[in-house]
Amino acid sequence: MPRVVTFHYTLRAPDGAVLDTSAGGDPITYLEGAGQIIDGLDEQLRFAPAGEKARVTVPARKAYGEHDPAQVQRVPRARLPVDGELKIGDQFKTGADRHAPVVTVRAIEGDQVLLDGNHPLAGVDLTFEVEIVAVRPPTPDELSHGHAHGADGKSGHEH
Ligand SMILES: [Zn+2]
Repeated sequence: MPRVVTFHYTLRAPDGAVLDTSAGGDPITYLEGAGQIIDGLDEQLRFAPAGEKARVTVPARKAYGEHDPAQVQRVPRARLPVDGELKIGDQFKTGADRHAPVVTVRAIEGDQVLLDGNHPLAGVDLTFEVEIVAVRPPTPDELSHGHAHGADGKSGHEH
């Protein structure tokens, strides 16, 4: 039986820089094995009890994947949906849809732009400092939906 786990985290890059954190906000709640958090973290927290503090290192291939060179493409500047100046490191969506992929500008060469369609954290080994806030069994609804309904099992989305 998978568990529903609520935890706080701070995510660090290999150089120690903080990439993301839940500190100061709401903790994250997920159903184990349901793909709600990255696989490598889910696997390594499988037996962690409430109250545990852990440092978990997740290799890139179990986080956001290896960096795929095939997803780096040279595109004419004029084809980009961006007005104004472009800078290296700029990120923008490739479409109007909320889930449209995000690309990163890696280089600007004349009227050509090198765009990277990899996730910004692809190829990066991640370290999570984790504190398990609570652990509970899933509700029948959560099991049938395949995701957690918030820390209390009641909140979340409309059905
Ligand atoms: Zn649901």
